[in-house]
Amino acid sequence: MSLPPTLVRPDYAYPQKRELLEALYAFVEEEARKYSFVCRPGCHHCCTTHLWVTTLEARYLLEDLPQELEKGLFTLSDYPRPGTSPNAMALFLMRGKSPPEDRPGKVRTCPLLTPEGLCAVYPRRPLSCRVMFSRVPCEISGEAEVPPEFLGLASLLFQLVEELDVGGLYGHLVDAIRFWRELEKGVEEVPEWLLGNREAPDLAYLPEEDSLREALVRLYRRKLSSGQTFKGLLDQIKEEFGPREALSFLDEIF
Ligand code: SF4
Repeated sequence: MSLPPTLVRPDYAYPQKRELLEALYAFVEEEARKYSFVCRPGCHHCCTTHLWVTTLEARYLLEDLPQELEKGLFTLSDYPRPGTSPNAMALFLMRGKSPPEDRPGKVRTCPLLTPEGLCAVYPRRPLSCRVMFSRVPCEISGEAEVPPEFLGLASLLFQLVEELDVGGLYGHLVDAIRFWRELEKGVEEVPEWLLGNREAPDLAYLPEEDSLREALVRLYRRKLSSGQTFKGLLDQIKEEFGPREALSFLDEIF
């Protein structure tokens, strides 16, 4: 697979980024088990086309995506797209500026849902699906009830899942998959609705939020199968990539 001649290098360090991604996904599951969430197989109120991912997550999903499901995804149009990535959003807020609006679209049922109401790509589903939990059944209450600490953790993890996809992009799953398929054909153009990933300017938690700090420390110290810690490998791939600032049009705004 060839790469664009810019700092957008979604293929960069794929095996290492994949290892970090799997560790982050496993971490979410462990943390979620600490809560009394009522989510169960067959419950799918949260399964919509609001599927925002990094290109790393899209590629991970693509590794095991049956062709007919990919075709189903490509039939989608008019889906909502993000106006910023999580880390760009953090930067906007830190600088007291309003982030660009999301691009509106019709929110439909996710085409990766089976007729039985199960996720057809469950082991590969993106972070945006993995943090969807509720303490009450959504079909009764009409909406999820999520403990604030878990919401806070989810925000941190959205920042980290972007951070670890060094050289990658952020946007809707369908756009990200199309992008990978175009790259395979040698088309290196980055569509305007895919946004450059950024490093986290700061992680969104307050000094008094001990539980979030402790959770982050658990993730950072996590031992990976390669023998490195999560933080050690993350720092290594960031350092070897070099500066990333030129990835984003946002620098002009700031
Ligand atoms: S990918 Fe799976 S978990 Fe995520 S919204 Fe679609 S069906 Fe639901």
